[in-house]
Amino acid sequence: MTGECSFTRNVIMAEIKALLEGYRHYYRKYFASSDTLYEDLLSKGQSPKTLVIACSDSRVDPSIVTSAQPGDIFVIRNVANLVPPYQVDEDGLHGVSAALEFAVCILEVRHIVIMGHSNCAGIRALLDAANIENTDFIGKWMSLAKPAKDRVAKRHGDGICPDEGAHHCEKESILFSLENLMTFPWVRLRVETGKLKLHGWYLSLDDGRLECFDPMKNRFEKVSVENYISGNVG
Ligand SMILES: [Zn+2]
Repeated sequence: MTGECSFTRNVIMAEIKALLEGYRHYYRKYFASSDTLYEDLLSKGQSPKTLVIACSDSRVDPSIVTSAQPGDIFVIRNVANLVPPYQVDEDGLHGVSAALEFAVCILEVRHIVIMGHSNCAGIRALLDAANIENTDFIGKWMSLAKPAKDRVAKRHGDGICPDEGAHHCEKESILFSLENLMTFPWVRLRVETGKLKLHGWYLSLDDGRLECFDPMKNRFEKVSVENYISGNVG
């Protein structure tokens, strides 16, 4: 074995070892202690009250951001936290829609949070199509959010800097996903009968601040835990 191979192997082992040490901490906390959380979650089943739809970005894990415990939130993650419109067809493999249906119709969550974030690579790729034109899947997936991009272009024109344009597009795509949620008949029914609330959140990675969409003011505002107003879009 060459020195380089040995070095590479050691790096790979260290990377995986860090995860296994994290797992050991998890095991000790929940299974090798007097903690009964998992016993309860097994005997009663999971009943999360909230579905969070977030980006796959490694920096925006919803469980970490919300300090959630196991069983607290049901999570769907994908590139740029997008929700496709309701579409039933025989050949389609609709992973997001299936997980959404499970959360809404089986678990009967009371809230759906679309959690977007700044510095989103998916949105950057959407804005600079050259980044994704030769991809197998990302380009098609991100084309879902093109209406959000078009809205930002229409509202702001070409006169804004790329960073500002990206921030606008990141927020607009959250609203677009909220609107698409309302195309699912079982989501719309529950929203209209008050059983389900939709929320749009935007996390800034620059300073860790969370902004929430205020439907009364039609804009994102810094979160105020005490005065939070939930609302629906669509
Ligand atoms: Zn992202």
